[in-house]
Amino acid sequence: MTGACPRCRTGEVLAVLRLPHTWTNAAGRPVRGVGEVLVCARCDADDPVAGPIVTYFAVHGTVRPPHAAALARLLRHWITHARPPRPDEDALRAETESWHRGDL
Ligand SMILES: [Zn+2]
Repeated sequence: MTGACPRCRTGEVLAVLRLPHTWTNAAGRPVRGVGEVLVCARCDADDPVAGPIVTYFAVHGTVRPPHAAALARLLRHWITHARPPRPDEDALRAETESWHRGDL
């Protein structure tokens, strides 16, 4: 396992997703970085996207081959919906625009 959650400091981190993202710094220059999104056994138990992953580990304890496909499906769903800790405003705007266009 990857250690304790930086948010609650006691929860077990079950999965870490690293998302490349860009934000504008104080000088107005774009900065490229990597945002880490964690799944915490405590913080994310009630999260609509990460919660099922927490439940999976609570039930199965670890990833076992017969269930790996089910977990992979949960992780893919989570990755699709996860957002970097510092939201990329342009990406959010683009997503909102495509929503209004009916692309989503
Ligand atoms: Zn936590």
